[in-house]
Amino acid sequence: MKNTFTILLLICAFQLFAQPDSATKLPCSYDELTAPDFVKAVDLSSGVCLLPMGVLEKHGPHLPLGTDIFECRKVATTAASQEYCIVFPTYYTSQINEARHQPGTIAYSPELLWKMLQETCDELSRNGLKKIIIVNGHGGNNDFLRYFCMSQLHAQKDYVLIFFQPGENADVAKKVKALRQTTTGGHADEEETSMMRYIRPDLVKMEQAGSQSGKNQARLAELPGQYTGIWWYAQYPNHYAGDATKSSVELGKLLVDSEADQLVELIKKVKQSNKIEELQNQFYEGASNPLKTKQ
Ligand SMILES: [Zn+2]
Repeated sequence: MKNTFTILLLICAFQLFAQPDSATKLPCSYDELTAPDFVKAVDLSSGVCLLPMGVLEKHGPHLPLGTDIFECRKVATTAASQEYCIVFPTYYTSQINEARHQPGTIAYSPELLWKMLQETCDELSRNGLKKIIIVNGHGGNNDFLRYFCMSQLHAQKDYVLIFFQPGENADVAKKVKALRQTTTGGHADEEETSMMRYIRPDLVKMEQAGSQSGKNQARLAELPGQYTGIWWYAQYPNHYAGDATKSSVELGKLLVDSEADQLVELIKKVKQSNKIEELQNQFYEGASNPLKTKQ
């Protein structure tokens, strides 16, 4: 009897410890989950879904068109493997009008970008994913995404949309500075090429990296104090900003891992906190009758 009790206790203890382990075996990629597992994954993720946003555009003469897709997806899946959440499949409906003169660019209309992202978020929410974190891999999206997030306040939503903003980490910045050999950049440059050499070295054509100029051509320098949509083309007509010839796998790994570390922290905090949701609801209530807002 005593032995049976001990065995039962052992089985219970085993199940207690085994449960989280088997649960974490759920794939984090949305498209790899079965429907029954999706229900479990939504629960395990506390409704947190990462939406890595890439684009299809030229990345200098040496990197693949989907570079941003590979980068943000690697950061997202690295983070999700440390703090479980669901990662949305490849998303490349992004703002990229400035590269329409280059081969391979898929530049959807502004209306479609908006609708696609809004309906994607709405559909994620309908499926129980109420905390959506955009992990942007494409610099050309930044202004669009901030405006998109701000516009969510226009009508009541039953979910929160967060735009991941990795901050400066003094320790990482010091290591990056020690590894970097160039001081300019911004697109298909030393940093981005390093990331791709770490993520998908088979797709990087280093022998091509110096075949086009990545220098700022400053073709609007005669008109200071203005912003115009043609600014990027004026500076970097080759869709290459920087010098990738000095890139390294070590720098790439550091950049990916440090961004993923910051994302892990955000996911943990977003899981624990309902502050955004509370403030949003308070705001929507006030916005429905502003005359009742305390003056
Ligand atoms: Zn890029």
